[in-house]
Amino acid sequence: MTTRLIFLGPPGAGKGTQAQVLAEELKVPHISTGEILRSAIELATPLGQQTQSYMERGELVPDELMLDLIRNRLNQADAQNGWILDGFPRTVTQASFLEDLLQEIHQTCECAIYLKVPDEVLISRLLARGRQDDNEKTIRRRLDVYHQETEPVIDFYSDRSSLRAINGDCSLPEVTESLKEAIAPC
Ligand code: AMP
Repeated sequence: MTTRLIFLGPPGAGKGTQAQVLAEELKVPHISTGEILRSAIELATPLGQQTQSYMERGELVPDELMLDLIRNRLNQADAQNGWILDGFPRTVTQASFLEDLLQEIHQTCECAIYLKVPDEVLISRLLARGRQDDNEKTIRRRLDVYHQETEPVIDFYSDRSSLRAINGDCSLPEVTESLKEAIAPC
């Protein structure tokens, strides 16, 4: 069976950690758009130079850059037998692009996982993490952007009956357990 999963949820919900655990177990690539961008910035590639200021401000990178990025990534050889997407899609434009792209490359994804965590828990988790964009001002901006731009993506998948919501406000192994139960029918 081919596993293709989309991880949705606010910054600090544990998407990256959980996606990594599952990807290792299921032997599929963990595709984190945030990681791809951070490494582009570190290597000072053209993509890194174009995206650095957005990331530092906690803003979303413009859709046209993200659409190219995801198209290239999903066309790579290691993504042909499954993947876990973490951090994409983050806007309805991205979600609808992904839907068309998957159809074009003859892939299907019927399962979007939504990790739910209240804002106050997110802020303390993010402050403890200490990534470069994890300062209080940027965190608040990222949460606002999440509520405005990314929450509608949850409805997008819910309307297509693809959404599985999970309580992300528990311990790491508990969340992993609920995740496995949620994806069992996928
Ligand atoms: P993350 O590691 O998923 O928290 O992403 C870190 C930052 O990368 C975000 O705050 C955005 O600036 C940028 N980013 C990652 N994925 C996307 C995306 N799908 N669309 C737009 N910006 C993104």
